[in-house]
Amino acid sequence: MNLSFMLSRSNYRNLIIGADTKIPLYKGQYTTAINFDNAASTPPFVSVMEEINSFAAMYSSIHRGTGYKSQFSSKIFEEARSIVLKFVNADPTRDTVIFVKNTTEAINKLSYRLWDGNKKSVVLSTWMEHHSNDLPWRNKFQVDYVQTKPSGKLDLEDLENRLARHQGNVKLVTVTGASNVTGYVNPIHKIAELAHRYNAKILVDGAQLVPHHSINMNPKNPLQRIDYLAFSAHKMYAPFGTGVLIGPYETFEKGVSESVGGGTAETVTHDWVVWEKTPHNEEAGTPNLMGVIALVAAIKTLTSLEMKNIHDYENQLTNYAYSKLKSIPGITLYSHTSPAELRIAVIPFNIKGVHHEQVGALLSNHAGIAVRTGCFCTQPYIQKLLSITSRQMEFYRKRKNVPRPGVVRLSFGLYNDFSEIDVLAQHLERIAKNPT
Ligand code: PLP
Repeated sequence: MNLSFMLSRSNYRNLIIGADTKIPLYKGQYTTAINFDNAASTPPFVSVMEEINSFAAMYSSIHRGTGYKSQFSSKIFEEARSIVLKFVNADPTRDTVIFVKNTTEAINKLSYRLWDGNKKSVVLSTWMEHHSNDLPWRNKFQVDYVQTKPSGKLDLEDLENRLARHQGNVKLVTVTGASNVTGYVNPIHKIAELAHRYNAKILVDGAQLVPHHSINMNPKNPLQRIDYLAFSAHKMYAPFGTGVLIGPYETFEKGVSESVGGGTAETVTHDWVVWEKTPHNEEAGTPNLMGVIALVAAIKTLTSLEMKNIHDYENQLTNYAYSKLKSIPGITLYSHTSPAELRIAVIPFNIKGVHHEQVGALLSNHAGIAVRTGCFCTQPYIQKLLSITSRQMEFYRKRKNVPRPGVVRLSFGLYNDFSEIDVLAQHLERIAKNPT
């Protein structure tokens, strides 16, 4: 049975703006763009842009205005928090939603709030983290890293050993929900249970997981609950500029936010300040109302499509792409999959004898296919997958004219087609044979 023929068009394609945009190739011809770079940012849903357009008539700065539009906008903005909490099954009596710019800002904010000045406090991160879930912890805590196995998957035994070794000093286990390099999905509830058994909290970096799977911050077993969650709207079919940090009110109620100013204070004198209640004490400056409207519209669309259906379709795309890539001589794949495995639609690979940047350029110039090449802000993980030492990295850093190691990354969205993967495979086959 020819799967690519049966399912060549995605049922979701019409929901996306720009899925069939024509773009120029290097010889002046035009082609329909193929976007396999959805792990970086997704194009917006039509519903999201429509909502932005229609809400523009109510556009007004929120919280302090007396006019109808301002009050209406403030109400919608505050209601958005409950919609976000419900989307990830957070506990509205315990958890708050803080609107930020993106996942990176969310994690920096939390790192500041959890910082206790105690030199013994440990944050347990992992080898598979994006820099945004590694660097914010480094200057405040002792950071230790859970190993990955040779397959690239997280080593849960190593996690437990490290929790035990740090003898109650681990304040937080911080882990990505899904890898932006290999697509592996981490067992976040199992990790939460381990962390809680050692009196540590857990942060899930949901930047890659949230657009592809449903997340349950409050499973039945309270030991498995997720304490903190961060994610970005621009990876879930809404525009750039909005992110979310979810966590218990009590984390943010005492002390002072790392970012203060308009909106964060209830009373200000030159002698003292009384801060606003959480979450307002964490949202300095005029909030990004339209960004939040867009995020809510994206959440509503994703919910109506059902995350399970999205995941099933993307899994079919991923398995199909794996089968195609595996059959091309010269391709090395850096992650593995079995049809039943929970994963997101991300595939890293290289072509023997062709630098990853060249593969990216050839795909773009000859076929209008967008992929991403390099290390995707996840340098230690890629170094490990490619068996490159820090010492070797020093060599590359000093010699600017020597191309750096990295990989090519495909990442699919719900609107991608099987036929697009066929086009990709044809071009990769050609590049593997003749890389010019
Ligand atoms: N975490 C992961 C796993 C990511 O893939 C990314 C972005 O690619 C981030 C965090 C950072 O997201 P943002 O750039 O939206 O802050």
